[in-house]
Amino acid sequence: MELLQMRNLNFTYPNSSDQALTDINFTVHEGDFVVLCGPSGSGKSTLIRLMKQELNLHGTKSGEIYYQGIPFEQHDAITLAKDIGMVFQDPENQIVMSNVMDELLFGMENLGFSTNEMRKKTAEIVHYFGFNHLLQQDTSELSGGEKQQINLASVLLLDPKILILDEPTAQLDPIAAKNFMYLLKQLNDELGITIIIAEHRLNELFSLANRIVVLEQGKIKFSESPRKALSLL
Ligand code: ADP
Ligand code: ADP
Repeated sequence: MELLQMRNLNFTYPNSSDQALTDINFTVHEGDFVVLCGPSGSGKSTLIRLMKQELNLHGTKSGEIYYQGIPFEQHDAITLAKDIGMVFQDPENQIVMSNVMDELLFGMENLGFSTNEMRKKTAEIVHYFGFNHLLQQDTSELSGGEKQQINLASVLLLDPKILILDEPTAQLDPIAAKNFMYLLKQLNDELGITIIIAEHRLNELFSLANRIVVLEQGKIKFSESPRKALSLL
């Protein structure tokens, strides 16, 4: 099933004469593991912000993003907030509570989950990630890798259909980064969660993804299977 479709997307920031994105067209299917790559400034973050319909992304946009065949504007904000989960580059920025357990509950409380539901889901995710030992800790005491796992878990608790990640391992050490990537693959394989990840280095992700979208100066250079991408890079 087609989950997200980008159709003729163009975007220009205010006070900028250059288009940050030009004529972006591609489709993300359910179960995909898509890597968006390209050098710094190629438009990865801009595209990701548009996919999350960030309200503070000021600028001139044309074209359309469809979620499950319906234009973004016609969806209600709660559906999009639940269904499309985001993890950002800086592990600090996303954490709002000082205690790990409170952090896990925060998003669900905001979206009005019942106490029973929250308890059940939290127990499941803690078991799945194996981080019982972190529950009573202060979030400020966690390593960068642990913080990103907590961010990921908090988003997963809202039952997203799609996870969008903007260079989530940029600030992690190589081992934590690798573990995080394999955790994403596990979520993709076992839970069927669709993954879109922006990354400027491809090496770790080549074997995990089923589609590589390469951006260059705001345009799609190609969108191919990893095997085909390998011969084009
Ligand atoms: P990437 O994530 O691949 O590094 P970005 O999406 O951040 O690329 O940037 C794409 C282009 O848009 C670049 O030319 C960048 O300088 C420009 N850009 C990004 N953010 C802004 C902004 N807030 N205002 C003006 N130009 C911006
Ligand atoms: P990334 O490569 O991870 O997208 P950047 O270093 O390109 O990060 O951008 C960091 C921040 O600076 C973003 O909030 C982006 O919007 C802003 N930014 C990037 N390029 C410009 C620009 N040319 N003018 C103004 N703001 C920019």
